[in-house]
Amino acid sequence: MNEYMKIAKEMSIKGFKNNEGGPFGAIITDKEGNIIAEGNNRVLCDLDPTAHAEICTIREACKKLKTYDLSNYVLYTSCEPCPMCLSAIIWSNIKEVYYGCTKEDAGNIGFRDDIIYKYLKGENKDLINLKQLDREECIKAFEEYSKNNGTIY
Ligand SMILES: [Zn+2]
Repeated sequence: MNEYMKIAKEMSIKGFKNNEGGPFGAIITDKEGNIIAEGNNRVLCDLDPTAHAEICTIREACKKLKTYDLSNYVLYTSCEPCPMCLSAIIWSNIKEVYYGCTKEDAGNIGFRDDIIYKYLKGENKDLINLKQLDREECIKAFEEYSKNNGTIY
């Protein structure tokens, strides 16, 4: 077994055995294979629905490296990322990702990644009530940011 995926798997087991969250683990390494951060799902212990393994690990790596840009790093995750984590991975610029279980495997034990993927494909649009409101006021912050050459990441 891949040595990094083995650690991600071990994190997934440690996490649920400690009642921290679901059975999901992740690890970030640099291109040379040095371990930067490890994490597991912490939704239950942190009372945080966004505390998925990948996000916890990205946060840890960024804190350690003092950056928001993980361009040259590699993520191993014990399960195919959900849409939220996939977005976090893309926002952090990680380009190389390995996953163990599939999203269908996660669905088979009751996790709901599926409904978000369907929503993004234009199905089950009644999942949330998403409506635009007061754009003309809100856009003023964008205009000011742009005028002041705010950092784009
Ligand atoms: Zn996720």
